[in-house]
Amino acid sequence: MTGQGFQEAANSAITEIERYYSNLPSRPVLPSVSPGYLQQLLPSKPPVDGEEWQAIEKDMERTIMPGITHWQSPKFMAFFAASSTYPAILGEMWSAALTAPAFNWICSPAVTELETVVLDWLAQILGLPEVFLSKGEGGGVIQGSASEAIVTVMVAARERFVRRQLEREGVTDVEEIEDRSCELRGKLVALGSDQAHSSTKKASNIAGTRYRGINTVLSNAFALTGKQLRAKIEELEAKGLHPYYLTVSLGTTNTCAVDEFESIAEVAKDYPDIWIHCDAAYAGAALVLPEYQHLAKQMSFVDSFDMNMHKWLLTNFDASCLFVRKRRDLIDALSIAPAYLRNQYTESGLVTDYRDWQIPLGRRFRSLKIWFVIRTWGVKGLQEHIRHHIKLGELFAELVRSRSDIFSILTPPSFALTVLTVNAGGKQAQHNGAIKGDDPRPFEHQHVPIEPQANTSEVQEANTITKEVYTLIDQRAEFFLTASVVGE
Ligand code: PLP
Repeated sequence: MTGQGFQEAANSAITEIERYYSNLPSRPVLPSVSPGYLQQLLPSKPPVDGEEWQAIEKDMERTIMPGITHWQSPKFMAFFAASSTYPAILGEMWSAALTAPAFNWICSPAVTELETVVLDWLAQILGLPEVFLSKGEGGGVIQGSASEAIVTVMVAARERFVRRQLEREGVTDVEEIEDRSCELRGKLVALGSDQAHSSTKKASNIAGTRYRGINTVLSNAFALTGKQLRAKIEELEAKGLHPYYLTVSLGTTNTCAVDEFESIAEVAKDYPDIWIHCDAAYAGAALVLPEYQHLAKQMSFVDSFDMNMHKWLLTNFDASCLFVRKRRDLIDALSIAPAYLRNQYTESGLVTDYRDWQIPLGRRFRSLKIWFVIRTWGVKGLQEHIRHHIKLGELFAELVRSRSDIFSILTPPSFALTVLTVNAGGKQAQHNGAIKGDDPRPFEHQHVPIEPQANTSEVQEANTITKEVYTLIDQRAEFFLTASVVGE
């Protein structure tokens, strides 16, 4: 493709993308394809001769679109929000144009330096404690996902625990260090509440340590408490095991529960070797609002904090923003410096090499899209965006309450999320008749959390009722963006 060809193709693609967004509300949200549909539409062998762009472009609508779930549709109801905005798309475009796997500062200084600047901006926008800014011992780094952030900090936590213990024991012989490290690693336990996102357990599998979930209760809105944490730590220590890592949640996936940071911080004082990570993947975006920043201030006890701009803050996937209190902890665990990665700037200690803050070596220019988004909206615009969604969430909760004959709200609505359950008993039947419309699309993908004792017929009932919610709010399409009904 020549430069001229690229210009024509890109203009055409941008026109198509804009048309796609303009017509999105009229597309069915869910695809109606069966597994393996694409293999039937595409040749089983790659083309031997190159093709014209026009032919490739045409196949987007014919082959790809039928298999797309339209997450950006105002009628999309599942999971959490997944942002996409034009400025962020432009950031992606530029990032692709300037592609550089900028693992070291020297690979492309602007890639590293813009990331430091925009993450310092973001820390300030969210009202995080100053320890997370790059001017001190901390700093931010963009990861691909909240799960990746958790694996990264968990490895740092594991190595920090082992290092400190070896120092205490005065082990210095190289082989002895290796043997004792392995022994210690075998006794380590990562912790999270039973509501923490599954990525904590997965990270623990990857880090090769044990994992224990701590039970929470509905009567406390599934928030983890300091008391529950202390009891679990004591139980594990009595067995000769070493808790070394804890995920606390600012907005769990199931119900958007917020753990009891104050009481957990008290317990943390007694266990300084446990790395505490705050997973604020979705709800962290709400910290742009001053009325939520009391939560940000409470983050002074955590070692790391992560939120996904790609969930609720107007930025396309992937943009998971991880902040650490001591960047040295990451670097000590993850830095490896073969000859081909060394250079005078690294040696000078004056630059950041983000390869030491993450698991992969190469990295994309993701800070561009964050820069474009923050500049386009400004702090005020970001606040208006979140405040508007929270208001819509409140309105949604009111609507649900207005149908207390069918629904109950399980836990107090949190941020823009309302979790509802379907009332048990025969009452539902009389409301089935109220379902309007004849939309044939399946609703299985739009989950309603069901109380654990629910049987299959209740699950089916829930799907029917979900359709009723859908009908109830159909006139106000914006709801679907924010009031996703989420379940596992
Ligand atoms: N943490 C929480 C609270 C989540 O809700 C999710 C996903 O919804 C994740 C982590 C995982 O996010 P990611 O896809 O960025 O790994």
